[in-house]
Amino acid sequence: LAVIGAVEPRVAAAIGQELTDQRESLKLIASENYASPAVLLTMGNWFSDKYAEGTVGHRFYAGCQNVDTVESLAAEHARELFGAPYAYVQPHSGIDANLVAFWAVLAQRVELPALEKAGAKHVNDLTDADWATLRRALGDQRMLGMSLDAGGHLTHGFRPNISGKMFEQSSYGTDPATELLDYDAVRARAREFKPLIMMAGYSAYPRRVNFATMREIADEVGATFVVDMAHFAGLVAGKVLTGDFDPVPHAHVVTSTSHKSLRGPRGGFVLAQPEFADAVDRGCPMVLGGPLPHVMAAKAVAFAEARQPSFAGYAQAVADNAQSLAEGLSSRGARLVTGGTDNHLVLLDVTAFGLTGRQAESALLDAGIVTNRNAIPSDPNGAWYTSGVRLGTPALTTRGFGAAEFDRTAELIVDVLKGATPTATRDGGVSKAKYVLTDGLADRTRAATAEL
Ligand code: PLP
Repeated sequence: LAVIGAVEPRVAAAIGQELTDQRESLKLIASENYASPAVLLTMGNWFSDKYAEGTVGHRFYAGCQNVDTVESLAAEHARELFGAPYAYVQPHSGIDANLVAFWAVLAQRVELPALEKAGAKHVNDLTDADWATLRRALGDQRMLGMSLDAGGHLTHGFRPNISGKMFEQSSYGTDPATELLDYDAVRARAREFKPLIMMAGYSAYPRRVNFATMREIADEVGATFVVDMAHFAGLVAGKVLTGDFDPVPHAHVVTSTSHKSLRGPRGGFVLAQPEFADAVDRGCPMVLGGPLPHVMAAKAVAFAEARQPSFAGYAQAVADNAQSLAEGLSSRGARLVTGGTDNHLVLLDVTAFGLTGRQAESALLDAGIVTNRNAIPSDPNGAWYTSGVRLGTPALTTRGFGAAEFDRTAELIVDVLKGATPTATRDGGVSKAKYVLTDGLADRTRAATAEL
């Protein structure tokens, strides 16, 4: 910090403050974690200065021998860790990983047949007329994904994201009564919509997904099955999600982030079955420019960490702790979407506390508990205010929390939510954003969290 502070003290101060804040609050954001010092240090070095467009052994810049080493290691560790035939570790983030996957499917299933038909090897060899036809065909494809309010992700074909502009999108949701995925309804939707890409994966669904069944549905309608395991990659790596619940043997292509439950550096990666490997390998220049060699190096370190036996213990603890948190909340009268969890997250419906998700998120933050508001299925408060709060166990599990600490955390959460009262609006209504907390509750809760 002294080195940084000599250049821009305010940045050094913000970094120091971030460490304090992350230490002094309870981090329950389901997509966050604490990466190890080895991972963090691998990101802060001179690899950051290197340009390495291309792929291993086939670069557009000289002097990439050391980048080749770390990229190869990261890919090898990823293949071994997930039992995947092919891994691509260049994507800078989850959204990049998804874009690489989507373009790979388009390249394999739309572009390649068009090239073959035109007797060409490369798009640059097409006539202008053939190129215009291909561009129209690329823009005329469909994607089926999980709806946002059931827990799906924006990058799975939704309008505010580029994926929604690339594809005509349709969604499958959850059963209104059970809030669980209804595979018969997914099948019916897929038969009707006939997507090129069928997506599975989520950011806020608190249950396991049966990927074997989803693959059967994709096969039935001729769709390519892509799973975005960004959230639960750590549970796959740690062998908590196996068999039908492990996406890797069932999906044609798997995308992920490396920084959530997997506990690596911020970044993305793609795993693929052999028939999509060449197309994914062209992620640069299709979607990406120069990779981030320092982050690929940190991915290699994180994947190596995840291959150690202790990682399976961490992953199992993440899932066990989610159960403890869920039981702690339910036993104190809180309603959980789907009634519980069998992964790393819990979706708490705060309606019964008389709050919106936004009020609950802010009240908890006042008390030193960091969460994020989240829509629940058919949310009456929409995506901005919401009626839910998403809670995840990876970060606090990394800090060493077990069942007792998560039960106490559940107690503190319920106490804060009970002690928050929405304020009245000027027109006599009830505010969706403002609230008051019982006197002293925030300080008392902060003191209690410090003891955990
Ligand atoms: N996919 C899923 C399922 C996610 O939850 C997220 C992030 O929240 C992403 C993709 C995007 O990841 P990134 O923020 O690294 O682009």
